[in-house]
Amino acid sequence: MIPLKLSEIAKFCAGELVGADLTVEKVLTDSRADCTGALFIALVGERFDAHEFIDVAENQGAAALMVSKKVETALPQIIVDDTEKSLGQLARLVRQEVNPKVVGITGSAGKTTVKELVASVLHLKGTDLKGNDLRENDLKENVLATKGNFNNHIGVPLTLLELKKEHEYAVIEMGANHQGEIAYCASLAMPDVSVINNVEPAHLEGFGSIEGVAKAKSEIYQALGVNGTAIINLDCEFASQWQEEFIDCHKVTVSRHKDAHFSANNVHLNSEGLVTFELIKRHLTGKESTTISLQLAGFHNVSNALVAAAICSQLDVDLDTIKRGLEEAGAVKGRLNLIAGQQGTLIIDDTYNASVGSVKAAIDVLVSKAGEHVFVFGDMGELGSESAHYHKEIGHYAKKKGVSKLYATGKEVAHTVESFGQGAKYFADKEALIATLLSELNSTQIILVKGSRSARMEQVVQALQESQ
Ligand code: ATP
Ligand code: MG
Repeated sequence: MIPLKLSEIAKFCAGELVGADLTVEKVLTDSRADCTGALFIALVGERFDAHEFIDVAENQGAAALMVSKKVETALPQIIVDDTEKSLGQLARLVRQEVNPKVVGITGSAGKTTVKELVASVLHLKGTDLKGNDLRENDLKENVLATKGNFNNHIGVPLTLLELKKEHEYAVIEMGANHQGEIAYCASLAMPDVSVINNVEPAHLEGFGSIEGVAKAKSEIYQALGVNGTAIINLDCEFASQWQEEFIDCHKVTVSRHKDAHFSANNVHLNSEGLVTFELIKRHLTGKESTTISLQLAGFHNVSNALVAAAICSQLDVDLDTIKRGLEEAGAVKGRLNLIAGQQGTLIIDDTYNASVGSVKAAIDVLVSKAGEHVFVFGDMGELGSESAHYHKEIGHYAKKKGVSKLYATGKEVAHTVESFGQGAKYFADKEALIATLLSELNSTQIILVKGSRSARMEQVVQALQESQ
């Protein structure tokens, strides 16, 4: 974080500083972390109150505290009404002080992937066309990107609080499980360029319907000012609605299937199963194009790459640099990683998470490879009352695409087993599934392993890789 005095922070958050004024450069909310020199903010959640861990933070080296009730301590403390609200206020202050170009990314699937692609390109901004660093040693420091999946009402402010003066760009992932969460995150991040990557029936439990999901996501466009740019994915069913609704901001369109500012042609998989395509950029006076070979599997990554290209282009990055950045970005763990399995099998590890769209996308990758197609499936979570319907749909889809075997375990996947029919096996637990899978392995098999985070299907991947 940029250095800030406690007195400045107290003033901005309408709090009272008790104790010495000093300068802090780090803010933490987790007392288990190394708190050396940090301002520790005591958040209060439904199941915890961090005021109880203040002595832990102190032992871990915290230099000051932000609390919502006065505590016994030798450290300086800023007393505020609501620590969560003040965390947000502080994040907004830091965002305004550093004033980088901010990219806001939301959507049902692919947020982290798009974030990684955008960050990979923006890291190169400042190198010349021959690849020489103009920025020399601090090249990597010009971009702040959300770490891991810190994308909610706590993660977004904590990410913004990492901004330093050398950051020219901030690439911020925003997720939501209720209405208003993205509006809140966007009010802190104040993006210059925003995208809704797609809208799918994910997290339906919090939103009621897919329209509810779309409405929540559209808060990211709502937050754009007249100088802001909305990147609109024309392949999303809500695209025309958004184009009409958000008339004030600038709009850049992307599509895999239609004419758009950014589109793709000649999409195919190379011999390693990675995606290659021609990226076409249309502007008023004509069009430019370049071939992109991603280090990612899965056709849906064409769409992620088009979105990333549109974002970066809006930030004045030329097409050559966009190509280099997209091609340098590697796969993120648990997202369609191709791994050698026992007995010459190939595992497609997509165990990080699962939604209806991402399962279909992963099945497309599976069947694009020659061999016997095996699909190992755990539950998709948070689909609310539509869960059975969507799990059935996946069974039909896998069958139609030519998957030969389905091994499933979980509560909801019983519906998938039923709709898939012949070739499907249901298991009471992962151990039983793994035992059967291992006993039936053969070298022609391509094995896709997928399920929601809660299904922890990576245990299956580990078992297939282990005892080699
Ligand atoms: P989360 O909501 O968990 O943060 P996310 O939106 O950040 O997820 P990623 O982590 O990039 O998404 O990818 C999650 C899953 O979605 C992966 O299994 C990936 O294969 C799939 N996926 C990525 N991009 C797309 C896309 N454009 N369309 C459909 N599925 C996608
Ligand atoms: Mg993510």
